[in-house]
Amino acid sequence: MTTYKKIAAAAILCIFSLNAMAQQKPKNVIYMIGDGMGLAQVYAGMTANHDSLNLLRCPFTGFSRTYSANDYITDSAAGGTALACGVKTKNGMIGMNPDSVAVPSVLDYAAANDKKTGVIASCSVTHATPASFVAHQNNREMNEEIAADYLKSPVDVFIGGGLTYFTKRKDKKDLTKDLKKKGFTVATDMDEVKNMKSGKLAGLVAKDHPESIKGGRGDLLLDGTNTAIRLLSQGENGFFLMIEGSQIDWACHKNNESYMIAEMLDFDKVIGAVLDFAAKDGNTLVVITADHETGGLTILNGDFQKGKVSTQFNTLQHTGLMVPVYAFGPGAEKFSGIHQNTEISNMIKNLLGK
Ligand code: MG
Ligand code: MG
Ligand code: ZN
Repeated sequence: MTTYKKIAAAAILCIFSLNAMAQQKPKNVIYMIGDGMGLAQVYAGMTANHDSLNLLRCPFTGFSRTYSANDYITDSAAGGTALACGVKTKNGMIGMNPDSVAVPSVLDYAAANDKKTGVIASCSVTHATPASFVAHQNNREMNEEIAADYLKSPVDVFIGGGLTYFTKRKDKKDLTKDLKKKGFTVATDMDEVKNMKSGKLAGLVAKDHPESIKGGRGDLLLDGTNTAIRLLSQGENGFFLMIEGSQIDWACHKNNESYMIAEMLDFDKVIGAVLDFAAKDGNTLVVITADHETGGLTILNGDFQKGKVSTQFNTLQHTGLMVPVYAFGPGAEKFSGIHQNTEISNMIKNLLGK
């Protein structure tokens, strides 16, 4: 070949591979939501952990705007619905648009594309964030109705608290019986969850909310994640999994720095396991973000070597700050820049589609 032909061949190859890159779609998506996890929560955790966090391994970062349809300050229902369903709704509403019309979530979309699906949270599975992926209710307080929506959802694996809303109900129904009829194994402790080898799993491991990390929750999120990945990756067409670090928000509502850091580091431990899986798999997109910031947290000082951080909260409520977005894997570059919270969901949908 002449030099000219060599250059031409290389150019054509380059165009082909760029094209292949542009069309690369992940087989699996793992969507991780740190409730209330603003930039200061992340940086406080990083400082306390001696200048190290697993989420630093994400090569692409961006910001998400979190306001809801009716409030500059979102709650977790509207925030969860935006991240799950790609629509801004009114505070308090789950999986519905502001006109109370049910909207499908990215989990529904993944299931419609023949992917297995799962939800894990360190709160009750009926709480706002996980509920936004499976339920459609006007009011986030409707725990029993949200529990019943799990039976209407295509979800294959769900792990968290909330057993009471399935078993001790006003309508006297025991929804765990219905779950078993639908082919679910109902596990009520983490040993059962960890021992699951295949099939559909309802892991309802606390009556209401699981404990905090300091209160003895243990590795619910990490072990739940490992089980979910094991079960869901048995599908031929990949999977969608949502994992929520639920209690970062609760710690910040209490303006409790050590609670916040413990929950942040627990969530980051799970991020480490997820990124290990994604790196090995090579075909998994990981998107990590928050529904909103909580507490108006500021960092006044810190010492990486000593793992000491001095923080100050400015409110007991959520704030309107943009929250960070971290992404890893095929399609991750799309998440850099500044996006509406709804766009994150819609970009994942686009990447999940055939
Ligand atoms: Mg929240
Ligand atoms: Mg939440
Ligand atoms: Zn909150």
